[in-house]
Amino acid sequence: MVHTVIVQPDVDDNPGIADRLDAFASLLELADANPYTARAYRRAAETIRAAPVPVAQLVRTGRVRQLRGIGPGIEARLRELVETGTIAELAELERELAPGLIGLGRYLGLGTKRAVEIARALDVRTADELREAIATGGLRDVPGVGPKTEAQLREALAREGEPRPQRGLVLTRARELVHGIAAAVDGEAAGDVRRWRDANERLAVVCAASDPSPLLERFTALPQIVAVIEQAGRRAVGVTVEGVPIELVVAEPERFGTALVRATGSPAYVAALEPLPDAADETLVYDALGLLWCPPELREEPFRGEPPALLEPDDIRGDLHCHTTWSDGRASVEEMARAAIERGYEYIAICDHTPAVGAVQGLTADDVRRQGEEIAAANELLAPFRVLRGIECDILADGRLDLPDDVLAELDWVQASVHGGQRMPRREMTKRVEEALRNPHVSCLSHPTGRLINRRPENALDLERVFEVALEEGIALEVNGLPDRLDLRGEHVRDALRAGVPIVCSTDAHSVRGLGNMELSVHTARRGWATPADVVNTRTRENLRR
Ligand SMILES: [Zn+2]
Ligand SMILES: [Zn+2]
Repeated sequence: MVHTVIVQPDVDDNPGIADRLDAFASLLELADANPYTARAYRRAAETIRAAPVPVAQLVRTGRVRQLRGIGPGIEARLRELVETGTIAELAELERELAPGLIGLGRYLGLGTKRAVEIARALDVRTADELREAIATGGLRDVPGVGPKTEAQLREALAREGEPRPQRGLVLTRARELVHGIAAAVDGEAAGDVRRWRDANERLAVVCAASDPSPLLERFTALPQIVAVIEQAGRRAVGVTVEGVPIELVVAEPERFGTALVRATGSPAYVAALEPLPDAADETLVYDALGLLWCPPELREEPFRGEPPALLEPDDIRGDLHCHTTWSDGRASVEEMARAAIERGYEYIAICDHTPAVGAVQGLTADDVRRQGEEIAAANELLAPFRVLRGIECDILADGRLDLPDDVLAELDWVQASVHGGQRMPRREMTKRVEEALRNPHVSCLSHPTGRLINRRPENALDLERVFEVALEEGIALEVNGLPDRLDLRGEHVRDALRAGVPIVCSTDAHSVRGLGNMELSVHTARRGWATPADVVNTRTRENLRR
């Protein structure tokens, strides 16, 4: 079943407007438009989704450009959307680019261009027609498609039960997608997102109804779903224009808890609990099994015994890694501090970059001292809240730090970071980091493995050795909350804690909004079984040091 995606948004509803801008961004990307434009639309969508006021009203009163990231171009599109209920260029791109076809193609592993070429050669215009052509061997007639590709596509199409995207989605994107769909069908987000995985493959929503048809229909008509790849009984799998499959399970109300447990845990975790009893909610399922309810983050590997009392977002008393306009941040020291106060924190550490970071401006010894004066002034203004003088100091290739010891000695909090030269062999990299951790002024090792999800692998670093040295020197390891870092990741957090090394949950915020990534860091730490006592920034300021 395929439908066109001309579902009109409720333009008085911020998420509805944001969804249209997101769709526009995706299609601009497909049309090979200027990538900067697509990104600008995505950012605008994010801003609108989070806006505390009705954006349609701002548009009507000519005040929408007061929102960050909304310039004249985007304002014009928004006015068109609010006044006419549609964006003409978006509708045109949708017709031209056949998102259902593209979404299915991407899901099967075809690039956009290739999918469009194949569709043209076969003269097919919809996802259903493409499926039909692949299933009936029509691809043999397409120039450039060999028997191997054809076999792969047929196999991908026949892959049933557990559809997966070509690669895992970054947590923020996956959460936005799954929670958006869950809200639209009155369901619960399940799958990898509910376990706060770093790269999300199983995207699933579970809802409850005796008759599944109305919800399945609502699901397949959502603007996010461009084609349906499976539908049977109480389950459907739709695919987004990016080729990401999302599963909807409509459970009978008296079995909702059972379905939610099945759709949340890893296959190994769920298998160890089977056969699952039927129950209307999760607590009843665990009760019937004679177990305590298990936080979703721990539902990876089967385990015996009680889950510990994990770290909670409210346990966090401050953020120890934030940037300002002194380096590559967007807000001033005072703005960051006020935002931290609003979040209920007691302290924040300002950790701007040092010169060796290269791509952005870094602070010299002189700068650090001048920033210290600004921080002192902020502290006078904001007491008893405390702005800590910190730094994100580069670890040079030989393990020395990028600022002299006497400057580091003045600071309250020193993050040490590897930025350049990340391809070093394991022994050299480990020595480099070890050397830096021996510096008595270092408080914490930032984003220890240096990975960027889907873009850069982990550095060749002997983490076991790093844990030993950190323990000896009283240094904490960071759980960096940037969505494409989440570094340390859950498994490594668990290893660090087992070795006796404390962690810090930080955001590495480069803006006021960036402070919101604390939840990503906290839930990543929970995946590593962290309790409040394991986390340095659950402590009061007086107890921060060692
Ligand atoms: Zn960094
Ligand atoms: Zn940073």
